[in-house]
Amino acid sequence: ATPTSIMVGTGKGAENGILIKDAESLERAHRIQTIVVDKTGTLTQGKPTVTDYLTVRGTADRNEIRLLQMAAAVERNSEHPLAEAVVQYAASQGVDKKSLPAVQDFDAVTGNGVQGRVNGRLVQIGTDRWMQSLGIQTESLQSRRQAWEAAAKTTAWIAVDGKAEGLIGISDALKESSTRAVGALQKMGLEVVMLTGDNQQTAEAIAQEVGIRRIFAEVRPDQKAAQIKQLQSEGKQVAMVGDGINDAPALAQADVGISIGTGTDVAIAASDITLISGDLQGIVTAIQLSKATIANIR
Ligand code: ADP
Ligand code: MG
Repeated sequence: ATPTSIMVGTGKGAENGILIKDAESLERAHRIQTIVVDKTGTLTQGKPTVTDYLTVRGTADRNEIRLLQMAAAVERNSEHPLAEAVVQYAASQGVDKKSLPAVQDFDAVTGNGVQGRVNGRLVQIGTDRWMQSLGIQTESLQSRRQAWEAAAKTTAWIAVDGKAEGLIGISDALKESSTRAVGALQKMGLEVVMLTGDNQQTAEAIAQEVGIRRIFAEVRPDQKAAQIKQLQSEGKQVAMVGDGINDAPALAQADVGISIGTGTDVAIAASDITLISGDLQGIVTAIQLSKATIANIR
């Protein structure tokens, strides 16, 4: 490889907001066959907001606000983006952030949700799958949950002392660049795969919006790298695009790791290429640059 063409390639990348770590990263990018894309914060804006909230007891429930207050009290201890959304929503409904009740025994249950004790009562907030595994009955709002998830929303149950009391719907809008970038990558002959910890239905709804056909959903953070390995064992050159701490091992495992500049430092450090603005069209540009650079070298 001629150093000059590599420098031109990385220079053009930088002009377009694409930081390429080294010559090998630029070279490897032209061989990519499969692109695995994280959902939250990569395809979506990563700014979830609560759009729906219902209690099992229905609209006559006088405890609606108190339940929300307990949920916010527990979520305040979590760093998950969904937690922030719940706390903000509670505040918008009149729950005073400064006088939330104290929480004991807070615990973040990886890939599932959070729990803690409020006034001695066990409050658990998280996925339907988690509620099922805890043996918590959730019949009454299941059709709502399915409808919300079909509308690409993430849902979280609020359970108190082992009983489902409320259901929250959370929406995280797609980035403007997602659909066009996915389409362009597919046109280049690449397979685009979605990887997410979120539930299957929500993942499918988002995938359909952006035109992705293959999905790995409900993947725990510690299994993301293993999914990349599996695709590589199918003989594929794999790129991974992600923003979170959870994505770092997968970014490192991939043949080319691509991070989002607005994402976590850990993800950026584990990657070969960083898209400064988070515009996914940058993936297309990076591969085109790689191809042009290789063509110049040959
Ligand atoms: P991701 O954020 O990519 O969806 P995670 O493994 O962090 O993946 O979480 C998986 C799922 O667990 C989330 O989609 C959400 O449904 C649930 N979850 C995790 N943390 C929380 C939380 N603090 N509050 C509510 N639900 C949560
Ligand atoms: Mg993410």
